[in-house]
Amino acid sequence: MGKVGFGLALGCATATCVIAAVMMGRRVRSRRKWRRVVAVMTELEDVCSTSVGRLRQVVDAMAVEMHAGLASEGGSKLKMLLTFVDTLPNGNEKGTYYGLDLGGTNFRVLRVELEGNRSPYIKHDVQRQPIPVDLMTSTSEDLCDYITSSLKEFVDKEEKSGSDVSVVERKQLGLTFSFPVKQTSVSSGLLIKWTKGFNIQDMVQGDVSMCLQRSMAKQGLDMRVAALINDTVGTLAVGHYHDSDTVVAVVIGTGTNACYFERADAIIKCQGLFTTSGGMVINMEWGNFWSSHLPRTPYDIELDSESPNPNDQIFEKMISGMYLGDIVRRVLLRMSQESDVFGPLSPKLSVPFILRTPLIAAMHQDDSSDLMEVSRILNDVLEIGEVPLKVRKLVVKVCDVVTRRGARLAAAGIVGILKKIGRDGSSSGGGRMKTEMRRTVVAIEGGLYTSYSMFRKYLHEAMTEILGEDIASHVVLKVMEDGSGIGSALLAAAAASSSASC
Ligand code: ADP
Ligand code: MG
Repeated sequence: MGKVGFGLALGCATATCVIAAVMMGRRVRSRRKWRRVVAVMTELEDVCSTSVGRLRQVVDAMAVEMHAGLASEGGSKLKMLLTFVDTLPNGNEKGTYYGLDLGGTNFRVLRVELEGNRSPYIKHDVQRQPIPVDLMTSTSEDLCDYITSSLKEFVDKEEKSGSDVSVVERKQLGLTFSFPVKQTSVSSGLLIKWTKGFNIQDMVQGDVSMCLQRSMAKQGLDMRVAALINDTVGTLAVGHYHDSDTVVAVVIGTGTNACYFERADAIIKCQGLFTTSGGMVINMEWGNFWSSHLPRTPYDIELDSESPNPNDQIFEKMISGMYLGDIVRRVLLRMSQESDVFGPLSPKLSVPFILRTPLIAAMHQDDSSDLMEVSRILNDVLEIGEVPLKVRKLVVKVCDVVTRRGARLAAAGIVGILKKIGRDGSSSGGGRMKTEMRRTVVAIEGGLYTSYSMFRKYLHEAMTEILGEDIASHVVLKVMEDGSGIGSALLAAAAASSSASC
């Protein structure tokens, strides 16, 4: 080989070595970055761990807090509000009743006809209307007048269309009012504060039913507010109408809450004043539950401290549809800050609540082999470019860990209620002595539970793990749609025979 040839060969060899070294360096750097992301994932999995032992601690804490909240006002973060609903519909109700559902952005009016014998109710012309934005900050009188005129229009139309509503009897109305209320009887209560963008100063501490009752008198509508409830109590009412073993109701949608039927002697803060002996429905406001056993991550703590209500609704912030997506976003942001597995840091990852929970459900449940839905959402919503399959799988894993934890905690909450009312199959003196277990139905409502099948599956799995298969087979979770609509009308019917007060 001549000098030139030798030089060329040497040059080639050197270049090959350099390329190999560069590639090796890149591989090492990329492996290091991947390891950093995997460390974030592993840490998330560790802190979110919901072993059955941990869940049982949450069950016990829930039962203890329930006792404390029933013992005295302010005794627990669980408010355990008295609803004065002492009679749940049992299917024997007869007659025509109206329901008015005033939620966040819409209100609606409906009418049900009941024929006894658990007859399927005949539901009439549900009328849904948005609440005009200017009314959300006007006066209580304006708001009540507006709702009443819509109600009157509905009733007049029904009567004109020849329905057989009695014009002699006073019409009974159930009102589902989805704002915090301190009940004073089954049909009246004082508004504690407005939420969801409403700000009507003169109604705070005012009687919600009286406001409506005044407007109805003004407009010549002969109707009585017979029940004032929230959506959870409505769900329990619908559940009990269909199946008298229904004793608990849980809502898992944008937010989360639960209620259940409690014995009179357990409601210590109402002792001596309680005029019926059977018991009443307690609105737990369980979203505000807190326990040191809750597996909270730095992402939860950050989400809470940046929220408009820090230190409130800690349980809700780990479970409900409003928050799951944002927890996932926070994890992805941290991963993206740790390394460039998602490419350059996307500013969209820093936008609160940009990743809504239905989107994490879509990524989590993407069953295409190349996870195209994950790619699409990362791209469309978070403006993250094409990422390798292993990174897309990591995103699915994050959704899985966050959703699984939420669902399992909700299950622990439900078992906590069952434990409090002696329906978890354990003896009250501790231990897990098998006792005769009664069939127990839990009515469930809410978009997160009904529309997110993986959430539902994890919740059911955890119930069985905590209770054991034997006991779990006696606990039926039943979806009850439209508790907030029909529930108030059914309770107006049941309240006809109720006399609870405190
Ligand atoms: P609300 O709680 O406001 O009364 P819903 O019970 O319908 O309303 O629940 C709506 C919530 O359920 C949404 O905010 C969302 O978080 C969640 N949700 C709705 N659809 C889905 C879905 N397909 N997958 C996951 N979560 C969903
Ligand atoms: Mg709802």
